[in-house]
Amino acid sequence: MQSALQISWWTNKTPHCDASNFESHGYECASDANEAPAQPCDASGNFLPLGTPPCSLTEQSPDDWSPFRNRTEFETAEFLYSRAQMSAPNINTLLDLWAASLLKHDDQPPFADHKDLHKTIDNIPIGGVNWQSFKIQYSGEKPAAPDVPPWMNQQFDVWYRDPREVTRNILANPDYVNEFDYRPFREYSLDKDECRYQDFMSGDWAWQQADIIATDPDNLGATFVPIILGSDKTTVSVGTGNNEYYPLYLSIGNICNNVRRAHRNALCLVGFLAIPKKTEEFRNFRRQIFHSSLAKILETLKDPMSKPEIARFGDGHYRRVVYGLGPYIADYEEQVLLTSIVRNWCPRCLAPRGKLDDDDALCRCEAHREALFEEDTFGVLRRDFGIVGDIVPFTNDFPRADIHQLIAPDILHQIVKGCFKDHLVAWVEKYLHRIHGKREAERRMDDIDQRLAAAIPFTGLRRFPQGHGFKQWTGDDSKALMKIYLPAIEGHVPTDVVRMFRAFLEFCYLVRRNVITEDTISQIEDALCRFHHYRAIFLQLGVIPTFSLPRQHSMKHYPDLIRLFGAPNGLCSSMTENKHIKAVKQPWHRSNRYNALGQMLVTNQRLDKIAALRVDFTKCGMLNGTCLSDALHAEDTIESNADDGDRLNDGEIDDGPTEIEAHVQLARTCQRKRARTVAALAIELSIPHLQELIGSFLFEQLHPRDPRDHATIPADSFPVYDGKVSVVNSASSRFYAPSDLSGIGGMRREHIRSCPKWRNAHARYDCVFINARPELEGMRGLEVARALCFFSFKYKWVLYECAVVRWFNIIGDAPDEDTGMWVVQPSFDGHSPDISVIHIDAIYRTAHLLPIYGVDFIPRAINFSNSLDKFRTFYVNKFADHHAFEIAF
Ligand SMILES: [Zn+2]
Repeated sequence: MQSALQISWWTNKTPHCDASNFESHGYECASDANEAPAQPCDASGNFLPLGTPPCSLTEQSPDDWSPFRNRTEFETAEFLYSRAQMSAPNINTLLDLWAASLLKHDDQPPFADHKDLHKTIDNIPIGGVNWQSFKIQYSGEKPAAPDVPPWMNQQFDVWYRDPREVTRNILANPDYVNEFDYRPFREYSLDKDECRYQDFMSGDWAWQQADIIATDPDNLGATFVPIILGSDKTTVSVGTGNNEYYPLYLSIGNICNNVRRAHRNALCLVGFLAIPKKTEEFRNFRRQIFHSSLAKILETLKDPMSKPEIARFGDGHYRRVVYGLGPYIADYEEQVLLTSIVRNWCPRCLAPRGKLDDDDALCRCEAHREALFEEDTFGVLRRDFGIVGDIVPFTNDFPRADIHQLIAPDILHQIVKGCFKDHLVAWVEKYLHRIHGKREAERRMDDIDQRLAAAIPFTGLRRFPQGHGFKQWTGDDSKALMKIYLPAIEGHVPTDVVRMFRAFLEFCYLVRRNVITEDTISQIEDALCRFHHYRAIFLQLGVIPTFSLPRQHSMKHYPDLIRLFGAPNGLCSSMTENKHIKAVKQPWHRSNRYNALGQMLVTNQRLDKIAALRVDFTKCGMLNGTCLSDALHAEDTIESNADDGDRLNDGEIDDGPTEIEAHVQLARTCQRKRARTVAALAIELSIPHLQELIGSFLFEQLHPRDPRDHATIPADSFPVYDGKVSVVNSASSRFYAPSDLSGIGGMRREHIRSCPKWRNAHARYDCVFINARPELEGMRGLEVARALCFFSFKYKWVLYECAVVRWFNIIGDAPDEDTGMWVVQPSFDGHSPDISVIHIDAIYRTAHLLPIYGVDFIPRAINFSNSLDKFRTFYVNKFADHHAFEIAF
């Protein structure tokens, strides 16, 4: 039995057409090929007849490794510089040893020393766009000489590389060919004729922009390329010192969301902005530095925003392109800076500060802002509209750009770190203090900590040994806490609070989906409505004074933002945060720390060059069957070398192709220390009737159509097997989970443990979903069981791979109303546990159960290793990850 995922793949895509009289639902494209957008042309811009093949992308000969002499040189350079990131002295030592070993063969290592290596990398002709810099300085009025504050005379350095060149490199990258939208499109599911949003180009914004662009006859047939920007300050800490950097990143909207999320080179570093120290007096100057720097950096993109230029694409074709400023990814503080508004106002709408959520307010827009300037004074603008008057936004320099419309949704900062961590979790603590007083509140907080620490291990679930009270919260910590928080507070807070968290979490998981339909948007609106309803209790009890919080208010804009820009997870600042590691933190650590920025720029340039060369060599088929492909398969080797397979991570990204079917396979290494016959396994597992269970399993395998209940079949008609078994400690499950951290194909792999000693400590027997009734949706089609043992055996020359499982009963016919999660309890057959042997093909993936703690304080002896044995009822955690959210509803 294979598990079928509940995904509808078949949709109807309507591409955008230039002709202005189209019907949005119709599929009528302009009949003249030259008028359809994204038409290929030749290098001079003349459109090619339909069906003309691209001219060959490269004239490179398949053994041209230049500037390297051969493959070994290239792969050595890539390994030392990009992957191992080896220090210069270590590279020298390695190359010396290498030279010594080759001396007797009269041969030399690939490089003489680190300088030779760096020089060769610098000679790579592609991929690197040079760094440039400009200085920026205050040019307004100054007070008389002795009173001039130092910042008025200070020069600030801004480093950048030409964003037009960077964009052209992205367009020309053949890596993205199959994951690239050449034109905006609208997508409808076939069955419901319902609009769905996924990649950026499926949103209304790109469509509307293409409409505007197409009104100029010069632009007919051109490809619209939206420039997505993101900036996010980051700190590199060492010892007592902190170094702040302010990188600016660029990507394009044509690249599919899954690639932008999974492929780090689809988001490029284009600049380091200046960070003047904060002082009140020159706040406006800081704002203006930011806007002027962006305008200056993006200057080269300005002309081709109005008049098409010719660019080469990864598919080999030339096309006319028109650029446009797209969404800007930023946290709230930066949104304030970008839109030049007063703090605590909303960057997208005119809702008054202090009453952000009260009513639906009008959207901000540049035209309105400019009209206000003509009528009102700066004071009025600030007071009534939250507008900082004397700043020129950088978007003013560019056509069709309205910064208020371009503020991207930011799940990580607004929803996860903002609403969940800074607001809701803090409110619970305040509530406990207000109701119970300090001492009792602390006792209850300790219990919540203890409950969190008792959560059963699960893929991607961080351990909370000291509960939630740790100092340095990261986005990942908050995401992990979200998965297990709800049952931990149940019993300590009123039902309304539990229901509020349920609504909030559902909102979060819905907006993080990779595909969002109009139906999903209705569910998002419903969750938001429930969230607003149930959070009222915090105001009624006086726990907090107001809900007028900009980041919480931003939730109201998500439905519109999804329709405009597609699924928000393609624009989230978690992408820029991830990029910090490669683009800022690692290069910083590789520098000698003195004037580090210059060295970081060089490091980034070299990394980009090596990456571009790899793409080029791969495209020419020069890197087939390499040591790298061995490395990709290294996981299998690790598995067969491991004693019990538990050195593997629990879950991992799978870069393999998309498959709709989920698939489970047993670990390869048979456990020699474990039982090797049915009789020994019966003793090891304390299941005296194991042989009977195997007989029943074999009967079902041999007679799948026999309708009789096994209990009614005489035991002596079952096949008898009492021979050898191979026991393994884990199985792996591969499934399609594109909303979670997954490979480009959307696949994830996780390990299901069933071993008496995990990581040489305690026993770990994971729970699994079993596909019982594939025709039904959600939990109604699934069963939950605990994997007691994975084993295989041969019966009549057929290999059977199976699991011994203990069943859980699903309680009720709907999820729990407060938490939204289904409830299960261990199933009994009379007085003994209900156990079966099943084929591993029936297993879907791991299921995460969370104990229902109720109102009692949790006993000290309970922890994550025994909580599954100590409690009687559990929630099936649909918040464990996005895939669980999509199947366990
Ligand atoms: Zn708003």
